[in-house]
Amino acid sequence: MKNCKTWVEINKENLLNNVAQFRNRIGAEVKLSVAVKANAYGHGLKEISAVINPVVDFFCVDSIDEALELKAVATKPILILGYTLFSRLEEVVEKEFHQVVANIETLEKLSEISKNKNREVFVHLKIETGTSRQGIWLNDLEEFLNVFKANDLLRLAGVSTHFANIEDTTDDYYSKLQLEVYKKAVMFIESRGFRDFIKHTACSAAAVLFPETYFDMIRLGIGLYGLWSSTETQVVAAEKNIKIQLRPVLTWKTRVAHIKTLPAGTPVSYGCTEKVSVPTKVAVLPVGYYDGYDRGLSSVGNVIIKEKRCKIIGRICMNMCVADVNHIEDLKLEEEVILLGRGVSENVSTEEMAKKLNTINYEVVTRINPRIKRFVVD
Ligand SMILES: *Cc1c(COP(=O)(O)O)cnc(C)c1O
Repeated sequence: MKNCKTWVEINKENLLNNVAQFRNRIGAEVKLSVAVKANAYGHGLKEISAVINPVVDFFCVDSIDEALELKAVATKPILILGYTLFSRLEEVVEKEFHQVVANIETLEKLSEISKNKNREVFVHLKIETGTSRQGIWLNDLEEFLNVFKANDLLRLAGVSTHFANIEDTTDDYYSKLQLEVYKKAVMFIESRGFRDFIKHTACSAAAVLFPETYFDMIRLGIGLYGLWSSTETQVVAAEKNIKIQLRPVLTWKTRVAHIKTLPAGTPVSYGCTEKVSVPTKVAVLPVGYYDGYDRGLSSVGNVIIKEKRCKIIGRICMNMCVADVNHIEDLKLEEEVILLGRGVSENVSTEEMAKKLNTINYEVVTRINPRIKRFVVD
C-alpha cells in the first residue's frame, strides 16, 4: 500500500462476517455460492476468492476468462453464468467448469466435445421464468433433456433461474410468478427421470427475504461485499424483522499529490466550470475517471481527508481531480485520502456515491479500475 498512489483495501473480517451472516440465514443444508464476476464486484477476484474459498461451496463467474483466473486460487467448483463462445467450450470441459446453458446449439456442442474427449461435462440449464434474458421456455425443455438422454457423459448438474424484479420493489408478486414457473420446470425435468441436480434461484435480495427461493443453493453477490441490494430490500427486511448485519468490505484510497492556495475568483480544472469564491487551499488527488472515479462526481463528489469531508471542485480529469482542503490543518503531501468507504468518524458510502451518479451501488464498485491494487487487510 505504501508504494501505491491509489489502492483498494479489503476488510477480511467484514468479508467473513458477511459470509457468516448468510450461512446463518440459509442454514447448513443449503449450498452457498458466491458471485465473483466483474472482478468480484470490483473488490478483486483473486483477493476475495482466496479469502472465502474455505467457507463457500461454489463460485459463480460471468466468463471463461474469469473462470481460468479464479482457478488459480479456488478449489471449489466454478459455474460460468454468462455466454461462452463455441470456440472456448473445449476449455470449459477440460477445466471441469460448470456452464449455464440456455441454447440448444451450445448444449449439442458440449455433448460432442464430451464424447470426443470422453470427459464428463457439467451443465446447468437456465429456465426462462420472466426475466427475458437467457433462459429456456418450458415448451423447449424436452428437446434439451433429449440431448442429455443421448449422452451419459453430459451431466445435468443444475437447474436455475434469475429474478427480474426482486430488489427494485417491495412487491413480491412478480417473483412469486417466476418461482411458480421455475417449480413447474423442475417438476417436468424430474418427471423425465432426472435427479440430483442443484436447484438454484436466489440472488442476495432473495436470500435475505424469501427462504422459499433457496432450494439447494443460493447465489450470493452484492451481499457478500456488505452492500444491500437496494433500499427496498432493506425496508422489507426490517418489516419482516429479518436480522442481517452487512458490513461493507471495500475502502478505496488515494494520496494527496499536490497542495496549493488559489486566489479568490480562480477557476479550477477543465472547462473552468467552477471558481473558488475566497482564497482556497486545494489538494490535487492522483485519481480520475480512468481509475473509475466517475466524471459525474465533478463538483459534487466528497472525499475524506484527516477525518473531514472535502468537496471535489471542478471537473474530474482522466487521472486527476481537485479537492477543497481549506479546512484541513497541517495537510502534508501523500496524506491518505478516502475516496469511498469508512474512516473513523466519516463515511462516504457506496450508496451516497451511487445517488450522486444516478445509478446503483453495484455499478459504483464494479467500475473501480481492475488495475488498481487490492490489498486484504486483517
Ligand atoms: C450476479 C448474479 C447474481 C448475484 O446477484 P446479487 O444481486 O448481486 O446477489 C445471482 N445470479 C445471477 C445469475 C447473477 O448474474
